[in-house]
Amino acid sequence: MKSTIQVHDKHFEVFIEQSVLEKRITALASSINQDYAGKQPLFLAILNGSFMFAAELMKSITVSCEITFLRVSSYQATESTGKVHQILGLSESIENRDIIIIEDIIDTGLTMIEIKKQLLAQNPSSLSVATLFQKPEALKQPIEIEYIGFEIENKFVLGYGLDYDGLGRNLADLYVLSE
Ligand code: 5GP
Ligand code: MG
Repeated sequence: MKSTIQVHDKHFEVFIEQSVLEKRITALASSINQDYAGKQPLFLAILNGSFMFAAELMKSITVSCEITFLRVSSYQATESTGKVHQILGLSESIENRDIIIIEDIIDTGLTMIEIKKQLLAQNPSSLSVATLFQKPEALKQPIEIEYIGFEIENKFVLGYGLDYDGLGRNLADLYVLSE
């Protein structure tokens, strides 16, 4: 039996080990280095979940670049309009810049669709997305994602920056809910 850890009321087991995560992140960085050769991208890391992925990715980025950190606040506007996402913390101009969004996980895709829409309105010269995880089965609308670390099944995951009700972001491996 796999050993489990408990976070709040739930049990989790290791799903993807740190060494596997890091190897894949290095490969993503290599693709980005090739695609952005001669350019100077601005990375926008979405807090809180992407902090560990962003740190690991940046260590293998060799093109000249900048990074800044954003927060997306979401709240329920009305029953009919659903969630509204507002981008907080973007003080630099992204006009005519090559932008790469760094996200932890894309689930329904609705958050990323809204982030992309708001950033595109500020006329970057290009906009791409690097996400560590994606759950293809959960996607509600088609969305273009240029760099995907791992496609995973539609289960709740924890660790490597991702939390369960505030806890677990510090775990170095990725965990999944135990059945
Ligand atoms: P989306 O708008 O794509 O449905 O939501 C994306 C956000 O939901 C992610 O940035 C993340 O904060 C959260 N999320 C989605 N799936 C998971 C998961 O399996 N585990 C954790 N910890 N957060 C998740
Ligand atoms: Mg997130």
